[in-house]
Amino acid sequence: MAKLSPILKQATPVVAARGEGVQLFDEDDRRYLDFTAGIGVTSTGHCHPKIVEATQRQIADLVHGQYTTVMHRPLLDLVERLGPVLPEGLDSLFFANSGSEAAEAAIRLARQATGRPNIVVFHGGFHGRTVAAASMTTSGTKFRAGFSPMMAGVVVSPFPDAPHFGWPQEQATEFALRQLDYTLQTQSAPADTAAFLVEPVLGEGGYVPADAAFLDGLRERADQHGILLIIDEVQTGFGRTGRFWGHDHFGGRPDILMTAKGLASGFPLSAIAASEALMAKAWPGSQGGTYGANAVACAAALATLEVIEEEGLVANAAERGAELRSALERVAEKHDAITDVRGLGLMLGNEFRTPDGTPDGATALAAQQEAARRGLLLLTCGAWGQVVRFIPALVVDSAAIDEAAGIWAQSV
Ligand code: PLP
Repeated sequence: MAKLSPILKQATPVVAARGEGVQLFDEDDRRYLDFTAGIGVTSTGHCHPKIVEATQRQIADLVHGQYTTVMHRPLLDLVERLGPVLPEGLDSLFFANSGSEAAEAAIRLARQATGRPNIVVFHGGFHGRTVAAASMTTSGTKFRAGFSPMMAGVVVSPFPDAPHFGWPQEQATEFALRQLDYTLQTQSAPADTAAFLVEPVLGEGGYVPADAAFLDGLRERADQHGILLIIDEVQTGFGRTGRFWGHDHFGGRPDILMTAKGLASGFPLSAIAASEALMAKAWPGSQGGTYGANAVACAAALATLEVIEEEGLVANAAERGAELRSALERVAEKHDAITDVRGLGLMLGNEFRTPDGTPDGATALAAQQEAARRGLLLLTCGAWGQVVRFIPALVVDSAAIDEAAGIWAQSV
């Protein structure tokens, strides 16, 4: 009998049968509070009626058009609808299916547009699992171990990871920018550097926000040297952090923006956005793909944008995020093992450390597993797996937050 490959490690034993809002039900109809949202994807909640209706209607009309063969209405409408939410000047879009593909598309564009080979990435960043995306990923050795040689031309510089260094944010940022200048002097001369690639909040790397001074510093150096700034909003976009884009908290003005996850409420869709002038520098045919911008996924994205606006989900992420943070801080006060509660909006992490300050993945995992047994689904992240993260759908209400915090308090 065939078996599912053991390389797929499941974070919980749940076999999901159906979902509704922030709840998942297993095959025995046991209810779970889902504070993973499919790794920050189902932001409108499981099976939001508007997403269900829009996609059912689209399936009956057209499933797959293949957008380098024929155009279709959901894609044209989506491009128009995305216009007002995109950062100023980024008026041209390319669509693919996953965050990793968005990362690939972004670096293809950056290299072609600048004629330069190198991409400077930042320690703890996660950009996906294809070989190129994994080459730019430094949030854990497991994402690259055993499949070297990786893509050439990736240079790693420090992220202002204040919790990791145990420094005030200002000091971490000053260090990261000084090191970046050193990197540009010693490892990747500006004339060889196509782009900086950064997450506004480290996701898989442990839910560590950047700050305004760091993103401003990247922007300044990018302008000075003709380097492109790529901001990876795959996990932080579409309201997750309580602003529409994660970098809206800080500024930083991207030349290329990557998005996926919350874009289409669970349907596979990703995109990069750039100015038309920049996109025009990519060679025709260098970007594409059989499944990109699938018609049903585009219909889901259109409905997602409507739901986000109609239900005020960005504001809800900020308000419910503040409630969740306070609740998590109250739990942390009672448990010495939780040394930090951090993040933005509804992207919050609890860091576990041993009394001597060592990142404590084992205790984090035990708490995450106990929470699952008690009916609360969570995930870990961070290089040591030492951070338990809370990323519920943006439709979450105060009652679900209270319930989740109650289960968490019993699980730690
Ligand atoms: N970039 C970021 C910031 C992510 O968090 C992820 C996935 O977690 C990716 C890229 C890769 O996305 P995907 O898993 O859809 O390829």
